[in-house]
Amino acid sequence: MTTRRTFIQHLGAAGALTLIPALNVSVARAADKVPEDDPTAKALRYVEDGTKATRTDKMGVKGADQVCDNCRFYGLSEQTDDWGSCQLFQNRLVAGPGWCAGWVPKA
Ligand code: SF4
Repeated sequence: MTTRRTFIQHLGAAGALTLIPALNVSVARAADKVPEDDPTAKALRYVEDGTKATRTDKMGVKGADQVCDNCRFYGLSEQTDDWGSCQLFQNRLVAGPGWCAGWVPKA
C-alpha cells in the first residue's frame, strides 16, 4: 500500500531526476559559445563585436543598428549575461552585441 509519505518520497526522487537533464543542458549551452573561427561562423562572417563587421543596410535597418540582440534568430529565453542562443548556430550561444550575415530584424 502506498502511503502519503512514500508517495511524496517517490515524487521527490522523480522530481530530482527530471532536473538532472535540465541542469546538464544549461551547463553544456553555457560552455558552448560559437567561436569566431568555427567554419559556419566564418561562412556567415560572425563576430562577437558587431562594430568590427562591415554591415550594409538590410531590410530598412542601418548596418550600424544590426546586432544579435535585435535579430530574429536570437533566443531571448536562453540569454545569460550578454549571450543568447542563435537558431542559425543550432542554438549555441552568440554575443548580444555580435553580428553575422544571417541577420534579419525581429518580427
Ligand atoms: S543569425 Fe542573428 S543572432 Fe545569429 S549570429 Fe547572426 S546576427 Fe547573431
